[in-house]
Amino acid sequence: MLLRDARLLSSTDDHEGDLRVADGLIDAVGDLSPRSDERIVDLDGRTLMPGLVDAHVHFSLSGETSVESVVELSDAELALVEARNARKTLESGVTGTRVMAARGVDLDLQRAVTRGDVPGPRMVVNDRSITITGGHGHHLGREIDGPVDARKAVREQVKRGAEFIKFMTTGGVTTPGTDPDRVALTDDELDALVDETHRHGLHAATHVHGADGAKAAALAGVDTIEHGTFLDDEAIELLVSEDVTLVPTLSAPHYIVRNVEWATADSARKTDHIYEAHLESFARAVDAGVRIAGGTDAGTPFNYHGSNAAEITFMIEHGLSPRGALAAMTETAAETVGLDGCGTLEPGTDADLLVVAGDPLEESTTLNDPEAVLFGGDLVSGFLPDGPTSR
Ligand SMILES: [Zn+2]
Repeated sequence: MLLRDARLLSSTDDHEGDLRVADGLIDAVGDLSPRSDERIVDLDGRTLMPGLVDAHVHFSLSGETSVESVVELSDAELALVEARNARKTLESGVTGTRVMAARGVDLDLQRAVTRGDVPGPRMVVNDRSITITGGHGHHLGREIDGPVDARKAVREQVKRGAEFIKFMTTGGVTTPGTDPDRVALTDDELDALVDETHRHGLHAATHVHGADGAKAAALAGVDTIEHGTFLDDEAIELLVSEDVTLVPTLSAPHYIVRNVEWATADSARKTDHIYEAHLESFARAVDAGVRIAGGTDAGTPFNYHGSNAAEITFMIEHGLSPRGALAAMTETAAETVGLDGCGTLEPGTDADLLVVAGDPLEESTTLNDPEAVLFGGDLVSGFLPDGPTSR
């Protein structure tokens, strides 16, 4: 298939041209002559860009006000919920994800998607989050106590096929009885978790709100910090010097604040306290040159799957350039989570593409509703300009 007369937009490039898809891959980019036997789609100047990559989603959660209803689901029910959320995500234009998993179910989902049993984006998956006993996310996670248990938890997950490890350095907004400001894991536990993760060649992601947690995690050698709500100057300097990527998840507090009358009293109270601080931390981190990978925390209260592209708008509103925000949610996110070959228009990579009306650099909200989503060269949502028969 030849996608002709497009504006080819990636995080590093922006020019007119054509793009050929063959065998699910981007075959060539440039000024291309049609082959006699190929389908030609005239894009008429529409933007053709890489599918989005979301570095932080929860397919186990669907925007409920609290996780309690999710905890009651059987694993089979949870898998069906996850399959629905994965499909919504893909159809919205997110073709790559890092999935913060629950009860190991997401590894099964990943295999089902890879086999083609259910539609879904490319996924980098852990097994479940690691947390202290009673800590943030304990309902769907693995509770640990002490460095020996920490190593064992990592080894269990590697044995089951986890592709990265996530742990909760501080308390969280959505778990009653935990404090987002306080460091939950001890230094011994953090060191053991990071060391064991890296021994297996995986990357370590950690949930952090408070500045002390960010510093402890950065010094322990984590690869990504999720949220980073209360970063002070020292924490930001450490993120830069220790080469830690920040996944800000601005969507998460945004939707709780916007729907505060329906939120649980506990998460409303905590979010009220954190929202402004979170935006300010993000802006300062951007100014200081911290590497940003886009992630939405989709699935958290009122943060519905399929609205992921709004994170780009939020990042632009709070300090990133439009091109920087686009990079954060394409190439940088892909590199950060290990989805090699995603998030670019390089020949030889998977043909995960969006056709978008208008200019996403001028008007990022156009990404909320792409005209067409191609995944591995197949149309999975919307229409190409030559008509609806194309699927
Ligand atoms: Zn999360």
